This record gives sequence, structure tokens and C-alpha cells, in this order.
Amino acid sequence: MSGFDSSAVLDALETMLPSDRPLQLHEPLFEGNEWKYVKDCLDSGWVSYAGSYVTRFEEMMAEITGTKHGVAVVNGTVALHMALELIGLKRGDEVLAPALTFIATINAISHAGGIPHLVDSEPGSLGLDPAALARHLEQVAEKRGSACFNKNTGRRIAAVMPMHVFGHPVDMDAVNILAEEWGLVVVEDAAEAIGSRYKGRPAGGFGRLAGFSFNGNKITTTGGGGVIVTDDPDLAKRAKHLTTTAKKPHAWAFEHDEIGYNFRLPNLNAALGCAQLEQLEQRLEKKRRLARRYTETLSGLAGVEMVRPLTDAVSNEEVGNYWLNAVLVPDRAARDQFLTEAHARGLMMRPAWGLMHHQPVYAECPRADLKVAEDLEARLVCLPSTPNLVD
Ligand SMILES: *Cc1c(COP(=O)(O)O)cnc(C)c1O
Repeated sequence: MSGFDSSAVLDALETMLPSDRPLQLHEPLFEGNEWKYVKDCLDSGWVSYAGSYVTRFEEMMAEITGTKHGVAVVNGTVALHMALELIGLKRGDEVLAPALTFIATINAISHAGGIPHLVDSEPGSLGLDPAALARHLEQVAEKRGSACFNKNTGRRIAAVMPMHVFGHPVDMDAVNILAEEWGLVVVEDAAEAIGSRYKGRPAGGFGRLAGFSFNGNKITTTGGGGVIVTDDPDLAKRAKHLTTTAKKPHAWAFEHDEIGYNFRLPNLNAALGCAQLEQLEQRLEKKRRLARRYTETLSGLAGVEMVRPLTDAVSNEEVGNYWLNAVLVPDRAARDQFLTEAHARGLMMRPAWGLMHHQPVYAECPRADLKVAEDLEARLVCLPSTPNLVD
């Protein structure tokens, strides 16, 4: 037996957590210029689709991610959907993505006309496992010219979408080597990874494009919002065009050269975003402090293991943003008991997302062996992770 004792673990956690109940999983914090910038929008009348905060927000995101361009959109799902359209995804193309993810990753593939092809996770950091993906591609894929095809379905495999689970960076060098070898485009689902770093560089700069989310439960929020980042000026320009009804620039004429979208982020939300991004560094510090406190508190307790990012020998620095702190317990029964007891104590912990191939709409998707994802899903519990929880 593992010796896991859910009451003992919860007792230990309660020694470090504040006493207010219920304690939510992740709450938004507004500790900077939010009121000022939002009021500025209201005072000036620039609340909607034009205004200087949008540009500022986009520039801040480009700087934070070390990329050349940011394009703000209404949410993270749309950022990923647009990224996939921008790489030229064709209807019926397959896109490799982890089964252990929030459904937005997989929905974005569907919205862009693609077919999700689900792959397994790396047991340490929970993200897409490049070694398992390599083995899977050897089995199911073949190169025809420079393109990659699924031998079983006959469809093109166009792209791979790693997702940095809870902000823990995926081994992007390994993903990029594999993508190069197989002729796949890399689009990063960096929705949870603002401020995370891999080998000294920020998440979001490792694919052709990346998508970020500013939903209310993320580390920084615009209420609802997303950003596409890329180094490619043509893709950035097209991203802006496609998300703003594909209107040709003109002083007064309305001419649209393709079927565009209205996916622009309102200035009001971008104002909130600018204020939030100004506080990113302090917030990351708080997140890392909280993760250390959890690690210390749980060390030595039987049957409970903190999820940590893969160690980064190259940069020798903190790599995760610790968006959500999570633990692994011995099995599904232990998880369910732990969650039930936690909720009874007003600690609103959550399990992992239901795996994508367990969602009826995605049950028929092509997929790799998913035994690691299935094991993780059964054993994972997310802990309260609001940044200032222990400050
Ligand atoms: C939050 C999130 C998204 C995007 O979410 P939106 O709510 O549309 O902003 C996408 N992928 C993952 C993994 C997420 O956690």
C-alpha cells in the first residue's frame, strides 16, 4: 500500500492555507492600474474595437514572449483556431495534440476544419511526450514528399500542437526536431504558460505561432481574451486582417477580400490586460513562492507527489509559471476520496480535465496509445493556486 491518507494530507495543507472558505481554485487579482485604465476607456469613449490599449497590449505580449508580433483576439480558443487557419490547415487535415488538455485545444482544431489526432503525455510534467510521439509516428505516419500522411486514415497530418500543462513547459527542442523530421508545423497552445520559460526563453516563441488565453482563471486576465504571437510579419498581418472582418484598409469604403471574422478584442478588455501584464513579474514570483510552500508542506507525506516542471539544466532557472499546483495520488479511488473530503472542508480542488477521447464528440478521433494520460487523469488533483494565497 502507498500509505496515502487523505485526511493527513488535507490537515497538512490547512496549516499553510488561509482560513477563509470556500477557497477557490484560482481567483483573479486586480492590484495595479486596472481601475485607472478601464476608467480611461470609459472617459474617452474608446471602449470598443479601436483604441490604443489594444496596440499596447499586443506589444506587451510580443515583448513578454520574445516574439515580434502579437494580435489580440476575443479568447484563447479563437487565438488557437486562427493560428491553425493561418498555417493553411485544410479541411480534413489531422493535427496532433495531447489527449490530456482542456477541450479548447481540441475544439480549436475542429473549428479550423481539422481532425484532432490524440497523443500521449509525459508522466513528469504532464505535457505532450515527444518520445512517445516519435514512436507513434513511426507506426502510423509516412512522408510523401515533404508532407506527412496518416497511413491508416490516408489524411495529411499537418501540424502538432503541444500544450504547456499548468504552465510546465513541454520539451520544445524535442518537439521541433520531430516536427522538422516529419514536415509538421508547430503551433503552441501556450494558453496556460504566460511567463513560463524553456531553456531560458519564454513559452510562446517555439512554434510558428502560439495562442495565449486571458480568461478569468488564468494568471493574468482581460475578463475574456486571447493573443496570437508570431515572429512572422506576414502571418501577423494576416491574423489582424482575418480577425477584423478582412476589410481592406480604406478611409471610408467597405471592401472585404475574404470571409473574415469579428474576433477583435475590445479596447476595454485590452486596458485591463495592460494593467495585468504590468504586474506579471510580481505575480510569477508569488506563484513560485506558493509552489515552493506546497512542495515543502507535502514533502514526506506518503502517497502524494507534487507535479513539477522538467528540470531545465540549460538555464538553471525557475521554468514554470505554476499556474495550477497539482499533485498525484495513488489511484482513482484515492483521488475521489481526497476531492470529496477537500470539498467538505471548503477547499475547491479539482481533478484533471476529462480526457479528450472520453468526450463523446471526440471518441472516434485517431489516437496513439494513451496509457500515461489515462494514468495521470485518474490520479491528478489541482490545488488552490490563487497567486497571493500565502502572502
Ligand atoms: C484556457 C485555455 C484555452 C483557451 O481558453 P479561452 O477560455 O478560450 O480563453 C486553451 N487551451 C488551454 C489548454 C487552456 O487552458
